[in-house]
Amino acid sequence: MTINKSVRDKLQNFDLHNHSIASDGLLTPRALIELAVASGCDAIALTDHDTTDGLLEAGEVARENRLRFIRGVEISVTWPLAADGGAAHRDIKPTTIHIVGLGIDPANAALTCGLESIRAGRLARARLMGEDFARIGIDGLFDDAYDLAENKTMIGRTHFARALAGRGLVKSVGKAFERYLTFGRPGYVAHRWVSLVDAVGWISAAGGVPVVAHPGRYKLSRAEIRLLLNDFKIAGGRAIEVVTGSHQPYQYREYAALAHEMGFLASRGSDYHGPGESHFQPGKLPLLPADLTPVWHAL
Ligand code: AMP
Ligand code: MN
Ligand code: MN
Ligand code: MN
Repeated sequence: MTINKSVRDKLQNFDLHNHSIASDGLLTPRALIELAVASGCDAIALTDHDTTDGLLEAGEVARENRLRFIRGVEISVTWPLAADGGAAHRDIKPTTIHIVGLGIDPANAALTCGLESIRAGRLARARLMGEDFARIGIDGLFDDAYDLAENKTMIGRTHFARALAGRGLVKSVGKAFERYLTFGRPGYVAHRWVSLVDAVGWISAAGGVPVVAHPGRYKLSRAEIRLLLNDFKIAGGRAIEVVTGSHQPYQYREYAALAHEMGFLASRGSDYHGPGESHFQPGKLPLLPADLTPVWHAL
């Protein structure tokens, strides 16, 4: 049986969203790449939050193993901000959105400076989170979270969640997010990240393809999601995640339809954070629907 190239491409096992200890993952970049090799991935991207620190090691290990490696990042954005303007935006609550960049040059100055500015805000937020926990009688949690963060400038909510689980205050990291750390709960500190336009601009300047991460996860209405995707496209955005560890299967179909309708390339990634903390291991999630154009055609 013959199989033409485009069909073969679509069936390839690309996993374009993964984390390491450079942000809030549990594995070293080396261990992550070795796991991707063992899991049968055809290509993998490392997309740590707001840092490119793990890319060098991951790239070297991928080369040793002849695995195709894509240099990535996942940027924390707040949308909409005042600069996003427009009457339609006025009533939308500012929401944290994650924008993945694929195929980036980590040496690009615009990207490097932009990411540095985001990390500068993380430590301050973490101290405020520690104070919030102290107010409900959970003392010293900042210190625990700080110890757990391998990359101190990348301290985030996941490290606090692990600290809570480590003290036995919750049964799992997931439960820590349910009871604490999310809007309206103790330990949640509202934070202003960077603008959508800036994040997309830095990724593009670094030669990368901007991708909206897990669009089904945001607390936005359908109309608001469309407005977000429209702003993203105008800023230079090219792709959305369709098959991700953060989507339910019905959302694969929903976002496949939106990708078609709005002319986006489709991405696929497990959003793997480590053993016991993710729905799917690298490369172990469903393939992209065959009628979509995979984002790796642009890489
Ligand atoms: P931060 O960027 O510090 O606000 O942390 C965001 C990270 O927290 C995400 O990338 C996820 O890794 C993790 N996270 C957010 N919500 C949940 C949840 N409900 N369950 C488990 N992890 C979560
Ligand atoms: Mn994360
Ligand atoms: Mn994310
Ligand atoms: Mn992620």
